[in-house]
Amino acid sequence: MSRGPSDPLLPRNSGEREPDRIAQLEQWDREIVWHAFTQMAEYQPLLIERAVGCELIDAAGRRYLDGASSLWCNLHGHRHSRIDAAIREQLDKVAHVTSLGLSNSTTIRLARRLTQLAPSGLNHVFFSDNGATAVEVALKMAFQYWRQCSEPQPERRKFLAFANAYHGDTIGSVSLGGVERFHAMFRPLLFDVIRVEAPDSYRLPKGIAPGDALPYYLGRFEQALRQHHRSLAAVVIEPLVQAAAGMLMHPPGFLRGVRELTRQFGVPLIADEVAVGFGRTGTLFACEQEQVAPDFLCLAKGLSAGYLPVAATLTSTAIWDAFLGSYADSRSFFHGHTYGGNPLGCAAALANLELFDEEQTLAGLPPKIALLRQHGRRLAELPIVGDVRQCGMIAAVELVRDRRLQQPFPWVERRGQAVCDLALRQGVWLRPLGNVVVIMPPLAISLEQLDKICTVVYDAISRLSGDVQDGR
Ligand SMILES: *Cc1c(COP(=O)(O)O)cnc(C)c1O
Repeated sequence: MSRGPSDPLLPRNSGEREPDRIAQLEQWDREIVWHAFTQMAEYQPLLIERAVGCELIDAAGRRYLDGASSLWCNLHGHRHSRIDAAIREQLDKVAHVTSLGLSNSTTIRLARRLTQLAPSGLNHVFFSDNGATAVEVALKMAFQYWRQCSEPQPERRKFLAFANAYHGDTIGSVSLGGVERFHAMFRPLLFDVIRVEAPDSYRLPKGIAPGDALPYYLGRFEQALRQHHRSLAAVVIEPLVQAAAGMLMHPPGFLRGVRELTRQFGVPLIADEVAVGFGRTGTLFACEQEQVAPDFLCLAKGLSAGYLPVAATLTSTAIWDAFLGSYADSRSFFHGHTYGGNPLGCAAALANLELFDEEQTLAGLPPKIALLRQHGRRLAELPIVGDVRQCGMIAAVELVRDRRLQQPFPWVERRGQAVCDLALRQGVWLRPLGNVVVIMPPLAISLEQLDKICTVVYDAISRLSGDVQDGR
């Protein structure tokens, strides 16, 4: 590539004007970089050059509160000195060691720490590099397990997943997915899953009162297990919150019920805590809230506190043992990712976990969770707000055209995005899920900053409420 005097990558000393440099980068961003889940024909760049704490700083020096934790992964803020230092220290030793046949002290220490912190019985860790692969690993392990356990049941090759599930964007994880707008297109490529209704606390089925939701949904699940358990390799669930579907929240007791029923029917349970793990729901893992220990635990996003692509699939000794044997038995898990267990990422993850102790991150959450709830009550009164739901440090505000009928705005109207666009102008960055405005800042957010985010969201929605009533 030519590096002329106007090359934005060169130091700026040639009298070149700053706005020109930004405009050039924005043009390249629009024309070359293919962004995730983005219509590139309409894409508007926002270049983040730096960040500090819970603030993102764009190329022109404007600051935005990070109301979405860099898409649900940042925990302790950006540029945390402790995590920065841990990565630098690791960099002075070795950046990468393959997990195919080699090992490294940082990777080993992280694995051990995870087994100490995870729900009981999850004594073994397989590293990969993102949430989708953490789920793929669990799927393939569960599948292979049934072929190699002491009494093999090779007919168990299906997975049960819930409606509205999201487990990532690879073909296996998309097969589990139940968000029509993302997943319908790829249906011909996907394997069949047994799909079961999932609790939606806002839109209950006709004739079901809120108090009857738990027995209703567990009943549906039990019915499916009774019918299909002999063909199931595993059940896959997002504990407590179905995140990408719009932060749909399950009634207390659902996860526990699912665990009890899977035990009763002898089906392994895969808990995908990629979004809800690492303090998001108020406890280190969401499963803890219902004293649940799954057979597989999938972790990514917050595992490295939003720093580097690190993921882990934890499992039990019963699963692990089924893969042991001599080389000639071919019982190994034939799966791997080049960067799985990468020491730089593992160093960030270890520092992340140490910070939970040093900064008492979880103990600091209750006042923030309470403030979020307080704002939620106010938001719920706005005329175009149908539902406000919250689980720990995840809040979701669902916009509707008609509150009484729970009638959604057509998705093409992009009401959620309109709120986020207004918020951006007030210095708050958020990313909606359709008509759902998500408030999910780093756990380290201060009460003041959180107050600002919520106030900005309130003002933006009130403004839009006015527009809707004026028929605009
Ligand atoms: C984000 C997410 C994934 C996918 O993680 P990636 O790192 O984006 O592949 C999987 N499961 C859940 C519940 C998620 O929220």
